[in-house]
Amino acid sequence: MSNALRDADIRYVLHPYTNLAAHEEKGPMIAVRGEGVKVFDTAGKEYIEGMAGLWCASLGFSEPRLREAALRQMDALPFFHQFGHKSHAPGIELAERLIGMAPDGLTKVFFANSGSEANDTVVKIVRYMNNILGRPQKKKIIARERAYHGVTVAAASLTGLPVNHRAFDLPIEGVVRTGCPHHYRYARPGESEDAFATRLADELEAQILAEGPETVAAFIAEPVQGAGGVIIPPATYFDKIQAVLKKYDILMVADEVICGFGRTGNAWGSQTYNIRPDILTCAKALSSAYLPISAVLVSDAVYQAVKKGSAEIGSFGHGYTYSAHPVAAAVALETLKIYEERDLFAHTRAVSPTFVTHLMRYADHPLVGNARGIGLVGALELVADKATKESFPPAAAVAARLVELAQEEGLILRSLAGDIVSFCPPLIITDAELDEMFTRFDRAMERLTAQLG
Ligand code: PLP
Repeated sequence: MSNALRDADIRYVLHPYTNLAAHEEKGPMIAVRGEGVKVFDTAGKEYIEGMAGLWCASLGFSEPRLREAALRQMDALPFFHQFGHKSHAPGIELAERLIGMAPDGLTKVFFANSGSEANDTVVKIVRYMNNILGRPQKKKIIARERAYHGVTVAAASLTGLPVNHRAFDLPIEGVVRTGCPHHYRYARPGESEDAFATRLADELEAQILAEGPETVAAFIAEPVQGAGGVIIPPATYFDKIQAVLKKYDILMVADEVICGFGRTGNAWGSQTYNIRPDILTCAKALSSAYLPISAVLVSDAVYQAVKKGSAEIGSFGHGYTYSAHPVAAAVALETLKIYEERDLFAHTRAVSPTFVTHLMRYADHPLVGNARGIGLVGALELVADKATKESFPPAAAVAARLVELAQEEGLILRSLAGDIVSFCPPLIITDAELDEMFTRFDRAMERLTAQLG
């Protein structure tokens, strides 16, 4: 069966985020079953899912309550929507619960199906709002180098990674790029984390002044940058950035697609970094990824402008067929109940020291330039020369090799641009499972070290 499936995969599937030419040689790893933090492939081989899928399956791969919530909703009402004064209980209750747990000041929820759609919605809301408020020149959005906000046309434009722009004729107009708070890579020699954060905020202010503050509408940021390399900002970074935004009446948009729902040890990355968002996007762990759903939470000021526009124009002309899909909403609602009942964010804080200690064991490893982690997200940044921080040649694909070796050892990780290996296990992971995860990783690292010998 697995050979036929493998062949059919190569023949018919255009894989996302894949070197398609290499895939025709290599073929897929085909998962068939999940159990807790583990998945199993067609040969029955077991893997610890060290990335929770794509930073998302926070409750692991076999939570029966989510299955039951989906079945109940399928039986009761498999589809309805929220267009034109219609609604349904799971969509309403989920919005209420999200606002109940959201950072202060967020009052309304718009649902979509993916992080990309949520961030695309932000771009549209920001435009709509400023047109309605009579300041049509205030439209630019500032996003950071190495940001990841998704892949639809507007969201990919906010994303600050070359692979998402090259050959796609992106970014679109109106996106201003600012610096990335990766102290290890971008601080000047001897520059403290705090001084580095001050410099980034000063640079941001200079950019805003150069653009004209009356043309800048919003700043978007992931609390911890995920796909750009698991970049943990200096402790004072967001305070300094937000002081600048406030001065020029620029909205703070928190992209909580990865950080939301406990990843950094608090419900929101915004709590961990003292971010006070005017708009917040979330997805992934919102439903533990069991069904696609995302949300955009907005402040009352944003909502009032959108409301005014919808009355003037006759409708808020935006919404997806599957916005607040009732089955996805029911699963998300059950997910949020589970987080609360099991106090899962406290669990994350409790096991985080085991996770971070394992990562930090590698801080002195000759191949590791920087080890970092917070909550249950972390990374090892590989370098050819620890003293100079010189990278390996990209063609050597050292992090990708390490990830392949880890997979052979029964551990799924991900390599990111810049020879970074990322870790983002399900939040339900235990101390013992973390130990096992790093035992497997140790074996992979030993093999890579021997190979590079
Ligand atoms: N924003 C962040 C921070 C993400 O990490 C991602 C996906 O990884 C997205 C947005 C895009 O989400 P999606 O892949 O669901 O469109």
